[in-house]
Amino acid sequence: MPGLRGNESELCAEFAEVIDDQAAGRRVEAVRVRIGARHAVDAEAFRRAFSEAARGTAAQDAAVHLVLSPVTVECEACGRRTETLDPPLRTPAHAQTAARGAAGAPPPRTWTGDAGDDRDEEAYACPRCASDRVTVTGGDELALEAVWFRTEPIVPPQTR
Ligand SMILES: [Zn+2]
Repeated sequence: MPGLRGNESELCAEFAEVIDDQAAGRRVEAVRVRIGARHAVDAEAFRRAFSEAARGTAAQDAAVHLVLSPVTVECEACGRRTETLDPPLRTPAHAQTAARGAAGAPPPRTWTGDAGDDRDEEAYACPRCASDRVTVTGGDELALEAVWFRTEPIVPPQTR
């Protein structure tokens, strides 16, 4: 599936399904989703993908509150500890060397599903000194934090 930006569409399809399940027939007013920076999700792309995924479900037209959690990059080289939503990747030279493996093929422009899962700490560099001797923690959250339903049930919804 060339050109598909796997991350957002796949995530949103999953979220829409879960929300539709929870809604049990109610309309959804708004949702709050927490996503760690390590998932490299673009907020705008996420909202678009979500409204597409939610079409025809209970979450159609729901407002999306996206909460991004930072990653913490601890650098061995300069000793700094940086919290960032946008951790720098290792140098382009490094990335190109890795991508060129496939006999001169141009590096893929988009990450597809599998590649998305490979974005671990190996990919990052220190935001201060650009060293790649870093330890990366946090930023891998992926959670549906809250769902607000349109207020209409007089009987409180059953909690399961
Ligand atoms: Zn550093």
